[in-house]
Amino acid sequence: MRVPVGGARYARRVTTSPLDQPLAAVLGERTAKAFSRGLGLETVADLLGHYPRRYAKRGELTELGALPPDENITLVAEVLQVQERSMRARRGSLLEVLIGDGTGTISLTFFNQSWRAKELRPGARGIFAGKLGEYRGMMQLAHPDYELFDREGDDDGEGGRDPEAAKRWAEQPIPIYPATSTVASWQLQRAVAVVLDGLPDLPDPIPAIVREGRKLHPYHRALELIHRPTTEQDAHVARHTLKFQEALLLQAALLQRREQQRASTAYARRAKPGGPLERFDAALPFQLTGDQRAVGETISAGLARESPMNLLVQGEVGSGKTLVALRAMLAVAEDGGQSALLAPTEVLAAQHLRSIERTLGPELVAELKPVLLTGQLPVAERRKALLAIVSGQSRIVVGTHALLGDKVEFTDLGLVVVDEQHRFGVEQRETLRAKGATPPHVIVLTATPIPRTVAMTVFGDLDVATIRELPAGRAGITSHVVPLVDHPQWIARVWERMGEELAQGRQVFVVCPAIEEPAEGKKAPKVTEDGAPLEDGGSSDAPLAAVETLLPQLREQPALAGRRIEALHGRMKGEEKDAIMRAFAAGGIDVLVATTVIEVGVDVPNASVMAVLDAERFGVSQLHQLRGRVGRGGVPGLCLLVTRAEEGSLARERVEAVAATLDGFELAQADLELRQEGDVLGSNQSGGRSSLRILRVARDGALIAQARASAEQLIAAPGGIAAHPELAAALERRLDESAKAYLDKG
Ligand code: ADP
Ligand code: MG
Repeated sequence: MRVPVGGARYARRVTTSPLDQPLAAVLGERTAKAFSRGLGLETVADLLGHYPRRYAKRGELTELGALPPDENITLVAEVLQVQERSMRARRGSLLEVLIGDGTGTISLTFFNQSWRAKELRPGARGIFAGKLGEYRGMMQLAHPDYELFDREGDDDGEGGRDPEAAKRWAEQPIPIYPATSTVASWQLQRAVAVVLDGLPDLPDPIPAIVREGRKLHPYHRALELIHRPTTEQDAHVARHTLKFQEALLLQAALLQRREQQRASTAYARRAKPGGPLERFDAALPFQLTGDQRAVGETISAGLARESPMNLLVQGEVGSGKTLVALRAMLAVAEDGGQSALLAPTEVLAAQHLRSIERTLGPELVAELKPVLLTGQLPVAERRKALLAIVSGQSRIVVGTHALLGDKVEFTDLGLVVVDEQHRFGVEQRETLRAKGATPPHVIVLTATPIPRTVAMTVFGDLDVATIRELPAGRAGITSHVVPLVDHPQWIARVWERMGEELAQGRQVFVVCPAIEEPAEGKKAPKVTEDGAPLEDGGSSDAPLAAVETLLPQLREQPALAGRRIEALHGRMKGEEKDAIMRAFAAGGIDVLVATTVIEVGVDVPNASVMAVLDAERFGVSQLHQLRGRVGRGGVPGLCLLVTRAEEGSLARERVEAVAATLDGFELAQADLELRQEGDVLGSNQSGGRSSLRILRVARDGALIAQARASAEQLIAAPGGIAAHPELAAALERRLDESAKAYLDKG
């Protein structure tokens, strides 16, 4: 089996560390199995990296008054009442224990476990955990797990304790772990204690020179204190240390990868007089923007070097990134080099090919033979495409991830362009890179402006170039919120406004979050078509606007009478989608009712209005991307963000934020703060499950920047990373894990 990055280095088993021990060896098979099943914890490192979610104090009781239903809960409470009775319907006894915390009470029930009455005595305090349920209007926990605090005090009887010790005991934070219905928080706590007690001293990945002056604990101590703090401050410093370690490892890994790439040789590609690029530029009907020119120069300098370029080009939708990438492909094509353009969807790949052909003009098309390769090509066409690629005839290859397949071979792959990188993982980029005989140059295009910390984290191995300037003559986009809770009748005005636009010969988009309404009695889906979780509402339980429902309704709208209205969504076949997109681009369709499949890259300059229904159901960046589909030509764009979210709700605020600014960077920052980490990094991009545990890209920007600076210093110093064997070993372990994660996905 092929390992994605760098080959042999990962095949060898990395030095074993006590952290690599399987849990079964330390905790026994049974516990290990439960931890593996319940939480996916396999090794000592996994368990020790399962950090407490928070800490409870024995002195303070958790609010019983505000418990969510149907949840696995962990709470600190006191036993108030115990009652045992025999059951009528079947044999056996029922022990009912009422516990409370001053804000509320809840009953615990145990069947046939009367012995528990001995320890669950009124006045006993402890942590209780279980799945919250309701029985005859009362909240209850059936057969909860619990751990009583007083246990060790029992021997001396009540009040027999040393008051100092009792005080320390009462103040010591109790770690509360992310738990499941099968693994309770204190089971984790106990297991961690067993592991920590037997743990030999650990090498510290953070070199002492980096640790100095930063108030960081040594690794072992940090692990000890995050799991068994004596004070809250302990836990805090430990957390900071472990966070910094994550950031340092991540940055060192990314910078190391960048160094390795720079150290490998690539084929230098230079545009020559009279070559395709010069001819293309001469025929270009417009002037390049200043930023396009600047990035173009960065690219030609990068291509001309004998080490592979790795460049992230970010710029607003419509800022002309694709054009910049195309010019790079032309430079590579000069001496027969091939370029591969990787698009996230079939629709986009097909569209890219069409627009590349259009932009190149017939002569260059004949010369460079751009070709499409996607998973849905008919066999004969696929064979033809593969042949054109392997023979080197096609110098521009556009495709989806099908390009990553084993069967695809290039003669001379000089450049890989990845469009909309956030949908591709690092590994996929690497797979494509490995298809070149010598490593190809890589350009990554993204229209999602990336805040600096994310760029440093996700794309830390790339250089970044930014196109801020939009081509002249763009009429711009105006955005408005259409609040239906306040003005339900405004939806009619939306259709009228569209009708007016259509009357001027323009085209319009209507975007819905769902494809179809759920069947009667079913709840609205919790995710949008592309799997994004629907966010906290503001909007009611009413079903989401759905393409299939809306289509016939729009066809009935008087304001849209006589217009051709069609649907486009992800459940349609590739060819079908393609035909619809093509017809829309050609002006044969007036109104396109679609899901987010139109999000990226769709380029129809004649489209002037977009209405997004239930706009609050989309992310901030997504809305920004969507509206970039209009106002791309000389006609002003109008984006109507229709929402049922209440004024003042978070959902509504998000929509309003999008309407208020066109600055993608500002929005990206806002978005980042609202999103979950997983969305930011993507599971592929974080480099394996275990790499980021407590580092939060949105909040820890300063720390990430510091870690990057430290990593840069370490790499630049004599001996580089290798001068710090413990760091080097940790990086190997990390790479080993992400290679494993990659193979697992295989
Ligand atoms: P992006 O990929 O950044 O969304 P594109 O490269 O697809 O942008 O460009 C969007 C549209 O603008 C295309 O139709 C393209 O031909 C056109 N375009 C690109 N650069 C310029 C320019 N400098 N002046 C005018 N139009 C341009
Ligand atoms: Mg584009």
